[in-house]
Amino acid sequence: MDLGIKEKVALVTAASKGIGKAVAESLAAEGCMIAICSRNKEDLTASSADIKRKFGIEPFWVVCDLNKQKDIENTFESVVRQFGRIDILINNCGGPEAGNFRDLSDINWQAAFEQVLLSTVRFCNLIVPEMILREWGRVVNITSLTVKQPADNLMLSNSMRSGVSGYAKSLSNEVAKYNITVNNVAPGYTLTNRIYDLAVHNGKKSGKSHEEVLADMAKEIPMNRLASPEEIASVVSFLASKQASYITGSTIQVDGGLIKGLY
Ligand code: NAD
Repeated sequence: MDLGIKEKVALVTAASKGIGKAVAESLAAEGCMIAICSRNKEDLTASSADIKRKFGIEPFWVVCDLNKQKDIENTFESVVRQFGRIDILINNCGGPEAGNFRDLSDINWQAAFEQVLLSTVRFCNLIVPEMILREWGRVVNITSLTVKQPADNLMLSNSMRSGVSGYAKSLSNEVAKYNITVNNVAPGYTLTNRIYDLAVHNGKKSGKSHEEVLADMAKEIPMNRLASPEEIASVVSFLASKQASYITGSTIQVDGGLIKGLY
């Protein structure tokens, strides 16, 4: 299906790896002009070259630490200087620290707030006003299954991602009349480097191989397997499409059936 977003300008944050990179690839396949950012220049140049090789579109990249306001402003200004506008904003981020309530200091809470919630708010504050003037825009936030079913030992993700959901719903109500949609995609377990490293780490602690840890995770999921990053990305791209014009304020879980509740 042609998603009707050829030559739209898309900024995907935290996109040098994993789900963010898969989203950038999916939007490049649709003919979008792509900008990506993350903290590490080497990862960005490698990802950018990879996307160019696969799709013939070279993403514009900017080094950006999502915890830093100046970096976010610089990213916005650099992308607008390069492309003149931003039509599609995909707010992705790194995962916040794991831990239960006793494990987490004010510093951990502050860092998670800045990375997960405040970076989303800051990018929207910079980009959505221009979308309003052009009367078209798409904002998609990558959250987590934890917004529907809080996960053990992930106090920061459970708390901050729900903040993103509340923010997105409020923003969607304010901007719907300008043909701007704001939605969230909540991934379940997705096989990225982050999950692979976690499986290696947990395997060492429990005396299991990482394959066994991943197999145990898969057993929790009705589909009996983890998602690929591309399976998350295709839903994100659909929400960014012309066809998704009447979906706003929603959270779409992409979890292979992992969340057991009805809503
Ligand atoms: P990943 O670790 O593979 O990739 C994370 C990306 O974020 C990388 O490009 C990294 O460079 C970038 N990043 C990290 N901290 C940053 C910072 N401060 N500033 C800028 N960029 C930064 O992770 P992933 O598995 O692709 O996950 C992406 C998001 O989805 C995360 O927030 C994660 O918690 C969430 N999520 C992932 C899963 C999963 O199973 N993989 C499940 C639910 C939610």
